Amino acid sequence: MSNVSPSTPAGAIGSIAPLFLANPVTLYETRARRLRTLAESESSLRGYLSFVAQVVEVQHALSRRDDSAPMPTTTLHVDWVTPPLSMARLLQDPFWQESLAALLTVLSPLVPPPVQAVLERLRKLNATQRTAAAHALFNNDVSLVGSDGAPFVWAALSLAAMQRIARSKIVVDDKSGAERHLCPLCGNAPVASVVHQDGLRYLHCRLCESEWHVVRALCSNCEGSRDIGYWSLEKRYPAIKAESCGDCHSYLKILYQKDDKDVDAVADDLASLALDARLEDEGFSRSSINPFLFPPP
Ligand SMILES: [Zn+2]
Ligand SMILES: [Zn+2]
Repeated sequence: MSNVSPSTPAGAIGSIAPLFLANPVTLYETRARRLRTLAESESSLRGYLSFVAQVVEVQHALSRRDDSAPMPTTTLHVDWVTPPLSMARLLQDPFWQESLAALLTVLSPLVPPPVQAVLERLRKLNATQRTAAAHALFNNDVSLVGSDGAPFVWAALSLAAMQRIARSKIVVDDKSGAERHLCPLCGNAPVASVVHQDGLRYLHCRLCESEWHVVRALCSNCEGSRDIGYWSLEKRYPAIKAESCGDCHSYLKILYQKDDKDVDAVADDLASLALDARLEDEGFSRSSINPFLFPPP
């Protein structure tokens, strides 16, 4: 077991860091810049990527604000079995509701009227309704806020989760061989895999943005290794492949930092939708949802 401050990496198994924690300020700043760059090169997605960049810029601004009522410092013990930042624990914390209220207020004057109407709909929900909606989103159920409202609720939850982790003492058990297809901190599915410069593969959490080590050529959904395939549209996305599994018929994008050091799990996954279309044509379905692309109910 090792004690670590909330900076990367957390813990160590041999020479491999099992877990990287996100710094919300840096992450949002880098992601917004990446989205702006991708919006320039992906003309068919320019409008949406620019809009997402705007939301991430607001997340960045909120991550930097002075919180007048700081959360108590708690310990989150990563034992690789039971995620310490459970959804119930996160939702009990009033900080996520404050984050959502602030996000809606700051974003509203920046977006066009149809999006303002979505924000207004969310603003009218009371705290109990928002909590119920968040609970549903953790189960990929968008029926309470719609697929157009879900990204804003998730953006606030994600910010709150990251800040909660950043203000906690993180204790990581040295445990290899544990099941690792869900985030060891918050229990959510990965949005994508990222192969770091050193060649090690990490899964990137779609909620708390932590990254945890999983060996390569292993399905991130069912942990099968029998029938793993790689698909790419190399000319268009040189640093991105899709990793498919013939056992559970799912796939997840895998991003290679050696081919582009600036890849971002959420931004690049969103900007490579043509690869999703290819995989769906081949009969595979996504094993995870991008936080800015919740499917309709
Ligand atoms: Zn997580
Ligand atoms: Zn599988």
